[in-house]
Amino acid sequence: MFENLQERLGAILNNLTGRGALSEADVAAALREVRRALIEADVALDVVRSFTERVREKAVGAEVLKSVKPGQMVVKIVHDELVEMLGAEGETIDLNAPAPVVLMMVGLQGSGKTTTTGKIARRLSERQGKKVLMASLDTRRPAAQEQLRQIGEQVSVATLPIVAGQSPVDIAKRAVQAARLGGHDVVILDTAGRTHIDEPLMAEMADIKRVANPHEILLVADSLTGQDAVNLARSFDERVGITGLVLTRMDGDGRGGAALSMRAVTGKPIKLIGTGEKMDALEEFHPRRIADRILG
Ligand code: GDP
Repeated sequence: MFENLQERLGAILNNLTGRGALSEADVAAALREVRRALIEADVALDVVRSFTERVREKAVGAEVLKSVKPGQMVVKIVHDELVEMLGAEGETIDLNAPAPVVLMMVGLQGSGKTTTTGKIARRLSERQGKKVLMASLDTRRPAAQEQLRQIGEQVSVATLPIVAGQSPVDIAKRAVQAARLGGHDVVILDTAGRTHIDEPLMAEMADIKRVANPHEILLVADSLTGQDAVNLARSFDERVGITGLVLTRMDGDGRGGAALSMRAVTGKPIKLIGTGEKMDALEEFHPRRIADRILG
């Protein structure tokens, strides 16, 4: 069983009450527990290191007030720092561009890209009254385009008619053209994934970006991703240039450390989270909630 971080730190630090400022040694002992909690939450090791360093700088020398226990104080410093690193509350998809605004979804196969495409389309159409067109650019998996078409029917959003034999770049061009002619406000491009990052995938993403000129490039990533999260986010960001993150499977048992890892390496906002398989299981990102979860 995972013990609450506050209890763990209490056991280490609470006998300090009345001693004044936190010493280097007190903080080092506390940070060992913080590090353990972050690793258990699947935060990438590099990020654990830089995070604990930031906490150390804030905590060493901090005066322990009579009204709070030192353990509580360290937890508050850790929590505040986590919230700050996780980024702002209330990020949304930016549609502030001439119509049709192009959103490009990228990520590995199985991350939840197609499902998230449908969820976002539904949200924009139902809540914001936008006329949306979705297009699957996945020509590698034969069933992918059909999967998106079915999702489109389910959420009552148009999908680009399937034309056999077209390349992803050609489909992207056709989608933008169709959206322009059809008077759509938004066109969402659901790109193909791979089981792992490789050069052909990145080259394909770069080609699609060039022809479609997307206003947002959203990296869809499984929140249960562990140490690979950093590599994944960094590769997509360096090569394609993402504008935001969507983390899926936040309804699972994971503690969401990937959120911190990906945010830390890219500096890009977490815009939405997926919380289930259903089309309405998409929520705003609340850094405080994720911070609580990461701390256990
Ligand atoms: P893609 O290969 O990236 O397009 O992935 P899919 O959209 O096909 O999703 C793969 C599986 O993950 C499907 O069974 C989805 O229903 C499921 N899925 C997607 N998002 C979520 C989520 O937020 N929570 C849960 N529990 N399942 C999800």
